[in-house]
Amino acid sequence: MSESTSASENETSNVETFEFRAEMKQLLHLIIHSLYTHEEIFLRELISNGSDALNKIRFQMLTDREVVDPDAEQKLDITLDKEANTLTISDSGVGMSREDLMKRIGTVASSGTLDFVTEMKKAGGPVDAQMIGQFGVGFYSAFMVADTITIETRHSNLDSVGLRWKSDGSGSYTIEEIERAQRGTTITLALKEDKTEFAEPWRIKQIIKKYSNFVDFPIFVDGEEVNTVDALWHKSKSDITDEQLNEFYKFVSNDYEEPLGHLQVNVEGRVSFKSMLFIPKKAPKNLYQDEYQFGVHLYSSKVFIQDDAKNLLPEWARFIKGVVDTEDLPLNVSREVTQNSPVFGKIKTILTGKILSMLKEWSVEESDRFKTFSKEFGMLFKSGLSSDFENRDAMIELIRFESSVKEDGELVSLDQYVDRMKEGQKEIYFVLAESRKAAELNPNLEYFAANDLEVLLMVEPVDAFIVPGIPKYKDHELKSVETADLDLKKNKKTEKGAPSKTDTKKILERFKSVLGDQIEDVKSSDRLVDSAATLVVGKAGMDSQMERMMKMMDENFEGAKKVLEINLQHPLIKNLISLRKDETNDSLIDSAINQIFDGALLADGSLASPREFVRRMTELMVQATKN
Ligand code: ADP
Repeated sequence: MSESTSASENETSNVETFEFRAEMKQLLHLIIHSLYTHEEIFLRELISNGSDALNKIRFQMLTDREVVDPDAEQKLDITLDKEANTLTISDSGVGMSREDLMKRIGTVASSGTLDFVTEMKKAGGPVDAQMIGQFGVGFYSAFMVADTITIETRHSNLDSVGLRWKSDGSGSYTIEEIERAQRGTTITLALKEDKTEFAEPWRIKQIIKKYSNFVDFPIFVDGEEVNTVDALWHKSKSDITDEQLNEFYKFVSNDYEEPLGHLQVNVEGRVSFKSMLFIPKKAPKNLYQDEYQFGVHLYSSKVFIQDDAKNLLPEWARFIKGVVDTEDLPLNVSREVTQNSPVFGKIKTILTGKILSMLKEWSVEESDRFKTFSKEFGMLFKSGLSSDFENRDAMIELIRFESSVKEDGELVSLDQYVDRMKEGQKEIYFVLAESRKAAELNPNLEYFAANDLEVLLMVEPVDAFIVPGIPKYKDHELKSVETADLDLKKNKKTEKGAPSKTDTKKILERFKSVLGDQIEDVKSSDRLVDSAATLVVGKAGMDSQMERMMKMMDENFEGAKKVLEINLQHPLIKNLISLRKDETNDSLIDSAINQIFDGALLADGSLASPREFVRRMTELMVQATKN
C-alpha cells in the first residue's frame, strides 16, 4: 500500500524522492486548482491532527514514560511570519516515523473522497471546503492555501530519528533525515501569494475561535494562548449558552449547521458519567457506508480516549454525535478492553433510554422537529428494530410510514392508524413498494380506496425487512394488501351483473390453459375495482416482502409464482366472456389473456422485457382499428 512508485537516492545528501500514486496526484491536482469557499478549514484539519497526536502521547504516557521528551508541555504552537508569508504549526504529540510519513500522510482516508471532490467540481462554481473537511482529505487540504508544505517530525519512540518531508503537491515528495531533538511535529506552510491573510494573527485567532475552540490542549498563536480548554459537559445545564452548545456541536461533529437537538445526561450511581449528545439536522452522506465513523467521543475524567466509540450507543443511533465522559473506566487499558467493559453496557442502556424518551417527546410536542428526524434518520432507526430487542416496543411507537389517506411526505404512526380504523376493521393494511407513486399505482389498493380503508404505504427499502418482525400492533395484525387470501368482505357494488357460475369457470379455465405454469393459479378477484387483473402472492409463495429482500441480496433470485386475480366486473373480461366462438376470436382471446398477464406484471414491476408486450399491443390495436 505504499504511495511511492519509485524512489531515487540523491548521492550527495540523504534526500529521497517519491512519486505520489496516480489517484493521489488527481486529488492533489483538484485541491490545488479548485476555488474554495471556507478554505480556512485547512487550519481545523491541521489542529485536529496535532491534537490527535497529543492525545496519543498523553494516553501512552499514562502507563509508559519511556518516550522522547517525557516532560514536554502538551500544546499546539502556531507561529506566523508575515514577511516570509508562512504559517507554522507545532505539536509535542506522538510524532511520525518514516513509515508514517509514507503510508499515513500519503493516503486518502476515504475511497469516496475523490469521487466526491470530482462531483463537487462537476456541479460547477467554487467547491465548499467545509464539505471536503467532512470527507477526510485532512492534511492535504492545506494545499488549498500553500505552495509548499514542509513537515519536520520526530516520533516519540526512543530510537526514532528526525525527519523532513517536503512537497509542492505537484507529483512527488521528498524525505530526508534531520537533526531534531524534540518529540512531535512541526508543519510549515509556504502560503500562496494571495493567501497572506493566513499569516495574520487576528485571522488565525478568528478561525480557531470558530472551529477549534474546544480542542483539549492549549493553542498558542505567536505565544498567546487563544482557546478555551473547557469541558463543556462538566458544566451545569443552566450555565451553558445556546451559542456554546452550537459551537461545541460544530466542533465534535465537523458539521457547519446547528444541531437538530441535544441531550445532556449526568448520572451518578452504579455507573457515573456525564454526556452531551447531539442529533444533526442532516444525515451525512456516508451514514450507510462501512467507512462511516461513529461520532461519540469517549473521555475518562476529561482525558480524551477515542473519538469513534462504538458500543456506547446501539448501531441505529450511530448518527448521534457528542461526548461521553466517565470515571468508571480504567485508563490504562487497550481500546478493545475498554469497548467490552461492562461499564459500556450500563451507559448504553441509560443513554438509549434517554434518547428514546427525547424522541417520544418530540413526536408529541414538536412535530416539525420529529418530522425532520424521521426524514433524515427514520430509515436507520427502523433498521434497529431487527437488532435492538430491548427497546423494540418504544421504537415501534416511533416509526413512521406514508399513508394512503395523507399527502405525499406526511408520515403517520401505527398508533395514529389504529385510532383511525373503521368500525369492524381488525387488521392494519399495508403495501410495500419502491416509491409512493408505485404504491399508488398498485391495483391491489383499489378495493381499499373504494371502501375508504387506510393503507400504510411502505416505501422505504428497510420496510420490507422490518415488517415481518411486527406481526401485530396492539392486537391488530399487519396484513399486506397483496396477500392472496385476504379475508375481504364482498364489495357490494360488484355483486350485481356478475357473470354466471359456468361463464366464470370457463373464463378462469381459459386463463389457466393460456398462461400455463407462468402462474400458480387464476382466481376471480374481490379487491379490484378499476383494473382488469392483478397479481397477488400465492399461498405456497413466499411473502412478498421476503421476496423483495431476497431480490435485494441476490439479483438473480427468481420469486415464487403468483396468483393472477381477474376482475369479472371489468368490461374487458366481460367482453372476453361474451365473444362468439370462432377461430379469429380464439386467437384474440389468447392474445388478450397474455396481454392482461403482462400488464399485471408490468404494474407489479416484474415484467422482464417490454418487447413482446409492445408487439402484442400493436397487433391488438391493428385489429381494433380495422374497418
Ligand atoms: P486523518 O486525520 O483523517 O487520518 P490526514 O490526512 O489529516 O487524515 O492525516 C493522515 C494521518 O497522518 C493521520 O491519521 C496521522 O496518522 C498522521 N498525522 C497527520 N498529522 C500528524 C501530526 N501532526 N502528528 C502525528 N501524526 C500526524
